[in-house]
Formats: sequence, C-alpha cells, structure tokens
Amino acid sequence: MIFDDFRAIQRQFGYLPADQLQSLSRKKSVPLYQINRVADFYPHFYLTPQPKVAVRVCTDMTCHLRGADSLLEDVKRRVGATGSDVGVKECSCLGQCDGAPAVTVNDHVYRNIDAAQTEQLFLKALAGAELPEQEHHYPEAKPKSDPYPADARYGALRTLAASRDFTGVVATLKASGLSGLGGAGFPTGMKWEIVRNAPGDVKYVVCNADEAEPGTIKDRYIIEKMPHVVVEGMIIAALVTGATKGYFYIRHEYEHPEHRIREEIKYCEQAGLLGTDILGTGLAFNLEVFVSPGGYICGEETALIEAIEGNRSEPRNKPPFPVIEGLWHKPTALNNVETFANVPQILTNGVDWYKSQGENGAAGFKFVGVSGDVVNPGIFEIPMGTVASDVIEGLAGGAPAGKKLKAWAPSGPSAGYLPASMMNLRLDFKSMSAAGSMLGSGAIVACAEGRCMLDMALNSIRFFRNESCGKCVPCRVGSQKMVDILIGWSHGKGTPEDFQMVLDITEALKLTSICGLGQFAHQPISTVMQYFREEVEAHVFDKRCPENVCPMR
Ligand code: SF4
Repeated sequence: MIFDDFRAIQRQFGYLPADQLQSLSRKKSVPLYQINRVADFYPHFYLTPQPKVAVRVCTDMTCHLRGADSLLEDVKRRVGATGSDVGVKECSCLGQCDGAPAVTVNDHVYRNIDAAQTEQLFLKALAGAELPEQEHHYPEAKPKSDPYPADARYGALRTLAASRDFTGVVATLKASGLSGLGGAGFPTGMKWEIVRNAPGDVKYVVCNADEAEPGTIKDRYIIEKMPHVVVEGMIIAALVTGATKGYFYIRHEYEHPEHRIREEIKYCEQAGLLGTDILGTGLAFNLEVFVSPGGYICGEETALIEAIEGNRSEPRNKPPFPVIEGLWHKPTALNNVETFANVPQILTNGVDWYKSQGENGAAGFKFVGVSGDVVNPGIFEIPMGTVASDVIEGLAGGAPAGKKLKAWAPSGPSAGYLPASMMNLRLDFKSMSAAGSMLGSGAIVACAEGRCMLDMALNSIRFFRNESCGKCVPCRVGSQKMVDILIGWSHGKGTPEDFQMVLDITEALKLTSICGLGQFAHQPISTVMQYFREEVEAHVFDKRCPENVCPMR
C-alpha cells in the first residue's frame, strides 16, 4: 500500500522530498522511477515544498453556480493582503454540492462558506491552531431502502448463511432487475453470476464509493445513513461469488463517511459477520477500507483497481472486464455503494415488493442529489421512475424566488444539459435513454434563468480536461482543444469553422477514448448546441452573450 507510505511522508514533511522517495524505493525494492510516476499522478501528493496552509476552492458546476469564482478571487485577495504563507488554488468537486460553495483548508472540508469565514480558517491554521470540524446533519427519517428495525439488521445475510442458497440470490437479483446504480446500469445478478462461475479460488468484492463527478453526492448520504446495508450487500456478494477479500474504496475527502464504514466493519468483525467463519458457515470474507489517493478518474472501475494495486490510476482497455480480470487480475465483483445497498431490501422484502416501489414500470428506489439553482438542495430517495419536475421543483423547491428554471443536468457534466421543458421526463434508465439522455448516477444540477449555457458547458468540459488521466491522446488533447474553442466563443473570438472542429473532436473522443470520461467529455457542449443553439450562435456570430455572463472581450 504505497499510498500509506506517501501519506506518512507527506504528514511529516508537508510534501514528498526526493531523498524520502529514494529511501522508500530502497525499502520497498521498487524502482524509483515507478515510485515517482505514481506520486506524480495524483493531485493530492506534492513533489515540491508547499505553503504552510493550503486553501482549495471547488469551482466545478454547482460551486460555479453558487459563486465559487468570486469566492476564489476574494480569498486570493485576502491572502495577498496578509502576505502570509498560504497557497490558494481551485480544485475539482469536493462532493459537497448540497452545501456549495465548498473549500478545503489543509484538507478539512467546509461547506456553505464565504471568503471572510475562509480567512478566519486560514489564519487559524497559520497560527498552528486546530481547525474545527464542520457538523453536517441529515434528516432523522430512516431511508425506505433500509429494510430493518435497528435490532434486526443483517437479517438477509443470516437467512443466506443458514440456507446457503447462493444461486437463489443470483436468481432473485436477476428477477428484480437490479442494475448498477453508479451510472453504468449493468445487471447486478448477471455480474455476480459471472464472477461466481469464473475459474479460480481467489476473487474479490470491491465497493466503489469514489463519487467525484460534480453533483454526485448520494453515496455520502447512503454511507452515513445506513452503512450496515452497504456492508451487508458486500458480504452477501462475497458469499455468492466466493470472494474472500473485499475493499471499500472511498474518496479521501469523505472523512466522516469513512469513519462510519470503519465502525460498521469493526462491529461486523466482532459479531462474526466478517472474518474467517461468517456466522458459522466456514466461509471467510475480510473487508478493508481503501482511501482513494484522489482524482475523478479513480471512479472508473479499472482505474480504481489500478489505484488499489498502487499504480497510476489509468483505466485499462476492456475487455477483459473486471468480472474476469479485475483486482490483481482476478475475478472481481465491483459495484457502487447504492447497488450493494439495494441487495438486502430485495432479499428481505422480495422481488414483487421491490418492483412495486418504482413508478411507471420501473423498479425500486433511487437516491438523487439535487443541487445548483434550487431552494432546497439535498439528497432525496425517490421511487425509480419519478417525474424529474416532482424532484427538482417539488422536493428541491425549484428555482429561487422570482426566477424560473432554464436547464438541468440529469447526471452531472456527463449527461450534459437539458432544457427545463424536459423536466417531464421520468428518472429511470429506460425513459432517460429513450429521450437521448441518461439517468447516470442521479446527480441533478439545476440552472435558473439568467445562466449562460455556453458558460456552463465550458465549466463542465474544463472539469473533464482537468481530470483526464492523459493516457489517450484524443482525450488529453481534444478536451484541451474544446476548452480553447469555448473560451474563444465566450470572449467573442469564435468563428463558424469552430463548429465543425467541435464535431470532429466529438467524433474522435467517442470513437477512440478508452473510458467514459473521454467518451462523454463532449456532452456538455453537444447538448448545449442541441438545445440552446441560438445562445451559442449569439456568442459566435453576434459576439454577444445573451445572459451577459461571458466576458466577450
Ligand atoms: Fe484517460 Fe481520457 Fe483515455 Fe479515459 S479517455 S483513459 S480519462 S485519457
């Protein structure tokens, strides 16, 4: 676990000094160039000395909508005025979209924050004082996806341990129609069956809790509210597939959710629900928490696997898929937090009950995050198939007073932007795909009237450009080229030829990118050109921003 060594060194020195990496190379018998290329990959590790205090301001999508750019400028000005040893930078999404804007001060995350509060924090850190933890409270109510009263938890696992009907679980999951709820939508029963039937004794179960796409905040809520069903889903997956080792992969900014999962794992170990003899079955499963070294690309399943293996988090070519060749090239059942969380309720309440919870033919529940220009941003558990406007205008309260909604992104930047008139769509895999969009991870970001959709597209593609791992040339170069073109448009320097260039880059990205980041990086501008064409043309041909947002000079 090379990252634990990096963290220990960085804690001591504030960065990774060359001589420390050299001695680590000797200690681990790993060539120095390999150690360096891994350390160099992750934005969370520094190869040069850093200022005493690091302030990071998220400027992605929702934070952008909630004033992050002026917050960043204001914080920089305040740091300049004090002349102090504080480094201020923008950073990618911190997973706090329901509390935007968000910043970190020396890796402590703060939500709903302004420049004056940030200044108080960096001054405190400069003085060597301990930084306060920010309390964050969720609604008391138990999610409907938690099938248990507190004294009956792990009931589905106990039943399975007694019956040992592992193929029955596969059949039930197949009948339920449960599909991957991290965005990919692959049928869960089929995935577990492939791993179960794959040859070999060594298999793994991995939970992906690395949600890092702007707007994606639901897994944080699920982990905080019901860690027991997530862990139970993983143990059931292990018994079904024959895996004896599992990893809970969580983003490093989720300190409190990480704590909740560690507590739950400890409880399970003490209660005989994890370990060498689960509930007297003679079957073993050990579960470990793996804290992500950082970066959106780590959420891609094969990139995540590379990170656990201690490598640069670069996606692999597929096939082979992780179900056949996953972690350390062994069969791996890798699912998202929400997918694992669905398993206990299906096994406890049955397929008919599960199917009846959705609307309009869709099954079960869906957790969605709603952020951006809404009165009541948050995480909501809805019946799968709920009409989008019931969520955005109903549960999240719609646009702030005096305004109407103009657009919404159904799944962060990956799905691009739809006009408000399409809020009549139902939020389920089938309906969204039939409309040419996608349900994705349920990361809804709303934009009120007055927002410039070209500006929003530029912000989103910038995110992909920043987070591209750089392995494929079309993604590395194409995302930068897209950003350059859109900056030109927003500064009144566009030409009609740019449209063809955007189409050409889009085609190259779709056809040649190894992973979803590159394949979907064009979506923000493709959808804005599709649904807000006049607005884009006003920038390119008339050299004006209809919403007076872009600099146009
Ligand atoms: Fe990396 Fe982009 Fe290629 Fe994905 S598409 S592997 S992010 S360069």
